[in-house]
Amino acid sequence: MTSGVTQPTDIREVAVIGLGLMGSGIAELVARSGRRVDAIEIDRSALDQGMARLHASLDRAVSRGKLTDTARDEALARIRPTDDVPAGVADADLVIEAIPERMELKRSLFAQLDEACRADAILATNTSSLSITEIAGGTRYPGRVAGLHFFNPAPAMKLVEVVSTVLTAPEITETLTLLSRDLGKTPVGATDRAGFIVNALLVPYLNHAVHLLETGQATREDIDKAVAAGLGLPMGPLTLLDLIGLDTCLAVLETLHDEFGGTRYRHAPLLRKLCDARLFGRKSGRGFYDYRRPSTAADHELAPVPDEVAVIRDSSGLLDELADSISAADIRVVPEPSDQTGLVIVAAVPRHRVLDAALAAGHPADVVGAHIIETLAGKLRLAELVLPDVTAAGTAAKAAALAARIKLKAVISRDRPGFLLEALAYAQFNDAVRMVQDGYASSADIDTAMMLGCGYPCGPLQMLDEAGAANVVAVLDAMHAATGDPAFTPVPLLAEYATAGNLFRAEAGG
Ligand code: NAD
Repeated sequence: MTSGVTQPTDIREVAVIGLGLMGSGIAELVARSGRRVDAIEIDRSALDQGMARLHASLDRAVSRGKLTDTARDEALARIRPTDDVPAGVADADLVIEAIPERMELKRSLFAQLDEACRADAILATNTSSLSITEIAGGTRYPGRVAGLHFFNPAPAMKLVEVVSTVLTAPEITETLTLLSRDLGKTPVGATDRAGFIVNALLVPYLNHAVHLLETGQATREDIDKAVAAGLGLPMGPLTLLDLIGLDTCLAVLETLHDEFGGTRYRHAPLLRKLCDARLFGRKSGRGFYDYRRPSTAADHELAPVPDEVAVIRDSSGLLDELADSISAADIRVVPEPSDQTGLVIVAAVPRHRVLDAALAAGHPADVVGAHIIETLAGKLRLAELVLPDVTAAGTAAKAAALAARIKLKAVISRDRPGFLLEALAYAQFNDAVRMVQDGYASSADIDTAMMLGCGYPCGPLQMLDEAGAANVVAVLDAMHAATGDPAFTPVPLLAEYATAGNLFRAEAGG
């Protein structure tokens, strides 16, 4: 630790500018840590709204037993609401800016802060995607400007990305890192690159899901279910897009595309169309899903379940458990298709087409590939039922009916490499390896960021290790070959680790 570093205990007065969704949460968090907060808004009515949001959040914490009445009242007493920026920031040790994501607004505010703040005050921005270097470049002392990227809701989410520019003084970064810990957060360090860690990994994956939807790879429900159940995430990508806001995600994607170029950051046309139609997700009542009406997804009629199912087992034993469950449901299971067979099940492997196994099994029109996704503990969690385009129209419905009868959690996917889960996950793992390869972030920080910022049960690099780098490379190669999209080319570090058998998270125990 450097002697010139300001310690968290020396940061007693914090100005939070912009009391919107993020600013009100940040002000609450800082006030609950015992520090005085100047809560600053652009005008009286915005200030009232922001303070009302903050009050409501503190009340919720009390009603959930996370805060006492006294602690709430003390936190509120430490907050001074004001619509006077210069007066609000005058004594601040630290200013945290959380105004809208527009460069001209941020630059003009930071120019104002130059005049109004103490020369030794630290200036932090909560920007998600703008260049902090550009914000800092317009100020008199760019060395004191850094990013402090909280996640929504700020009081609850444990992750903070502490972002330094080439101009940020190292002791400022260190103070913000220590302060984040003092606020009960887990900081990860990043330099000023579009999307930092979390958004640079999350948003292209969300966009990829939109691309799968618009190219008919699966329904929106099945895309969401495949990833949520398959990876153990809190929600699927299309639901998450609706939650974050499609416009916000599109803006981040455009920033990534401007900075890095390439097909991985090119927006799916459907994403732009939905934004043009102002279907931004939850906040506008409709996005990929419609939030204005209660869901009517429930009881649609299922197709009849076939009396006889052929299960083409192979030496891997992958379909043994499935065959047993089908027999247990009083459905005749045969090893080869006969004239009575209504459905033929073959083992589906994400790096190979199901079509070839379907042709080998005969009856290609009745074939469905089953890709069984197992948990770490080996407990069956989800099946991807994969249909080559040559299957008969009713085959998907028969497969869905069978899955329902044997109570198998299943999704239906077209026969494209990676199917749903691995296509989405492995492309993201490749992005994560690129960050490690470029020296941008460590494997451990990437995993921490995705666990704490996005609710991953374990980080992408640990999941990659578990899936096996060689397997991930094989699926990505197949995706690349099938689509011609260079975004799916395994990055050199991944290819090297696959060949050498190295682990990205050796220290995490595999
Ligand atoms: P928001 O629109 O909810 O809030 C912005 C607030 O700033 C508004 O209340 C507005 O009245 C106020 N404001 C505008 N100009 C101002 C000025 N000159 N002085 C004082 N107040 C002013 O926006 P938000 O979602 O809270 O986002 C704020 C920042 O945090 C953005 O940079 C955004 O990218 C970032 N961020 C957002 C999220 C998220 O999930 N929404 C997550 C992390 C970071």
